[in-house]
Amino acid sequence: MIDEILSYNKEFVARHDYEQYITDKYPSKKLAVLTCMDTRLTELLPAALGLKNGDAKIIKNAGGLVISPFDSAMRSLVVAIYELGVEEIMVVAHTTCGACHMSFSHFRHEMNARGITDETLDTVSRCGVNLEQWLEGFHDTHASVRSTMESIRNHPLVPAGIVVRGFIIDSVTGALEEVMPEEEVAMTTPENITTLKPDEVFVFGSNLHGAHGGGAARQAYDCFGAEWGVGVGRTGQCYAIPTMQGGVETIRPYVDEFIHYAEQHPELTFFVTRIGCGIAGFTDEEIAPLFAAARRLRNVALPAGWR
Ligand SMILES: [Zn+2]
Repeated sequence: MIDEILSYNKEFVARHDYEQYITDKYPSKKLAVLTCMDTRLTELLPAALGLKNGDAKIIKNAGGLVISPFDSAMRSLVVAIYELGVEEIMVVAHTTCGACHMSFSHFRHEMNARGITDETLDTVSRCGVNLEQWLEGFHDTHASVRSTMESIRNHPLVPAGIVVRGFIIDSVTGALEEVMPEEEVAMTTPENITTLKPDEVFVFGSNLHGAHGGGAARQAYDCFGAEWGVGVGRTGQCYAIPTMQGGVETIRPYVDEFIHYAEQHPELTFFVTRIGCGIAGFTDEEIAPLFAAARRLRNVALPAGWR
């Protein structure tokens, strides 16, 4: 394979194909992206972020992680900041990452099968390398992105004013979901809401006719003053988001409208129920991303698992 690449390379240079890529070493967007080496992201990630050659420093490893304060990823970021003028850093993990579920016991098995003896592994361990930690998966993608963001933000060599934000990119669609630091994560909606304080609002999935016949809509009508015949927006102590008129994309504008409303009403607390995931038949994975922008709001509670 490498020989094929070498002959291709000769033709590439001879054809002057490089000319379209000419730029300098300074990232024109003053941006560094720390992400995973996954091959699905090779072209998808820059395309989905609108990045061209010369726009950003892209640093890759298995998982897109900083695993210790002086590892290679962190070193690259420090160089990017001081030598290359980077001011903003995006940590971009991705869905179905192979580095998520890695386990050392699996590696040990594979290594043994390919001639690496347990004695060698023991020797490495005795030299101070915790192999179980080094080759362990990160398991929880959100927690892992937060941990990497914290490592960068709190790093003794990272100066004040560097923006660090974390994301999970969909490995198929390229959609970005922002991962908020723990303290900024929205509250969690209680499982069974039976009473509301005067400044609390019950957010439920409805239909455009406002026929609140079942599920959370019934509860909104029976208990919290939702008006029959009103399928969108605020009535009583409720806020209706219609979920029964088509696909996920038809729900999005109503969710955006709700988020805008919540922003305009910081005096109220909104308990978002699992809209669309009952009678309408959508999954949490389909609906939760619509509320990504709501995570920034301190007055919006989201269902457990929608983080
Ligand atoms: Zn990955």
